[in-house]
Amino acid sequence: MRFETRCVHTGVDKDSTFNSATTPIYASSTFRWDDLKTHRGFDYTRSGNPTRRALEENITALEGGIDCRATCTGMSAITATMHLFQPGDQIIAGHDIYGGTYRLFDSVFRNMGLDFVFVRMGDLDQVRKAITPRTKCIWIETPSNPLLNIVDMAALSQIARSAGAITIADNTFLSPYCQRPFEHGVDVVVHSTTKYLNGHSDVVGGCVVTNSKEHAEKISYVVNALGLACSPFDAWLVLRGVKTLGPRMEAHQRGAMALARFLDSHPQVDRVYYPGLTDHPQHELAKRQQTGFGAMLSFEVKGGRPSVERVVSKLKLFQLAESLGGVESLIEYPDSMSHASMSEAARREAGITDSTLRVSVGIEHPDDLVSDFSNALS
Ligand SMILES: *Cc1c(COP(=O)(O)O)cnc(C)c1O
Repeated sequence: MRFETRCVHTGVDKDSTFNSATTPIYASSTFRWDDLKTHRGFDYTRSGNPTRRALEENITALEGGIDCRATCTGMSAITATMHLFQPGDQIIAGHDIYGGTYRLFDSVFRNMGLDFVFVRMGDLDQVRKAITPRTKCIWIETPSNPLLNIVDMAALSQIARSAGAITIADNTFLSPYCQRPFEHGVDVVVHSTTKYLNGHSDVVGGCVVTNSKEHAEKISYVVNALGLACSPFDAWLVLRGVKTLGPRMEAHQRGAMALARFLDSHPQVDRVYYPGLTDHPQHELAKRQQTGFGAMLSFEVKGGRPSVERVVSKLKLFQLAESLGGVESLIEYPDSMSHASMSEAARREAGITDSTLRVSVGIEHPDDLVSDFSNALS
C-alpha cells in the first residue's frame, strides 16, 4: 500500500462486534480477564489500550519502523528516549534544537547525570570532534527550529555507528510524509503528534517509533513504567487527523512555497529560510533526503522589533501563536515566544535575531496567505 492509503487503512478494523468503519474510543481503564491466565490483549490502559494501539500501528506503518508508543506530549516521547541511556552517557545535539528539548536536556536530564554537548550539527567535523568514549547518542533535528537548517542524516548515522552510538531523530517538522529517517540509518524517531500528525491544533501528543526489537522493548517498558502514554480520546483524535496527512501536507507545502517566494522577493524582508528555495544553503541535501520541503519557514524582517510588532499586528489570517502543523496558519516570534527558554546569548549563537519571525503555513488558499502578508508588509 502507498503512503496515503496506509494513512487511511492502518489501525482500523478493531471492532469485530459491530464492524464500525472507524476505530472506536475504548474509554476503559481496565479490561476483564477470561480466566486467571487469559485476557484479550489488554489489561490496563496505562500499559495498553486498543485505540492507542491502533494509532501506534498506523504511525509505525508511516515511518516504516517495527513499533511505536504514543505518549501524552512530544516532551514525554523525548523523556522516554532519554531512558535508553545511563548516568555518565553523553549525547550530542544541535545548538539550534527545539527550545523545550534544549531545556529538558540542559536543566532536567543533565541533573540526572546525562551529559549533553551542543554543536553545529551541519559541521560534521565539529560532530566528530565532540565524540568521546562516553558518546551514546547523536540527537538529530532536521530541519532545525526556527532557522530550517538541514543536516545529513545518513552521514550522522554513519558517524554515530562507528562510535558505537545511536541516532534519534525528531521528525516533527516534516512528518513521515516528507521525511522518513529510518531510510537514512536513524535508529529511533520521535514526534510531537501535536503538530502535523494530528494537524488540527486540538490535542497535544507525542510518539516514539522504534526499528529494533531491543529499542521497542525498552521504550515500551519505560512508557508503561513512567506512565507516559496518551489517553484513548487523544489517541483517537490523532488517528482521525493522521488519515488526511498526505493531502494536508500537499496543501501546506503549496502555501509555503508561494509565501516563501513572495517574501524572498519583498523589499521589506532581509532573508527567508525555506529549504524549498534554490538558494537555501542545504537545498540539494533537502532534495536528496526529503520527499517534500515541509511548510515551516522563517524570515528576517527589515527594521528589528518595531517592524516585527507592526507586521504581526497587521496580519489577519496568521494568528500570533506558538506551535505549528495545524490547518490554520500561525506566526510567532522566537525571541520572546518559542525560544524564550534559551538565554539571549544562546539564541544569538543559534542565529535567532530580534527580527526573526517563524511561520507555520496552514492549508488556506496560497493567494489569501500571500495577500495577507502583502498588506502587513506594506
Ligand atoms: C512541539 C515540539 C516538541 C514538543 O512537543 P509537545 O507536544 O509540545 O510536548 C518537540 N520537538 C519539536 C520539533 C516540536 O516542534
